[in-house]
Amino acid sequence: MKKILSIIFILILSVFYTMPCFAEVVVYNTKTGKIHSTSCKWAKKCTVNCIRIDRKEAVKRGGVPCKVCGGR
Ligand SMILES: [Zn+2]
Repeated sequence: MKKILSIIFILILSVFYTMPCFAEVVVYNTKTGKIHSTSCKWAKKCTVNCIRIDRKEAVKRGGVPCKVCGGR
């Protein structure tokens, strides 16, 4: 019985961690390598080369924070 409870607990936790509100989504410019916050004016202007990914993933790809929004 205890085993089942811990499995359920882990399942609930993993669901929480995969929810978008827990992941820090940023706008990453694949051409310039800049990381923008989703509310940044430059992120809104950038429609061709920009993708929405997790901040960790953007940093892994060599992204640097934007000077205007700081990537937050
Ligand atoms: Zn920005």
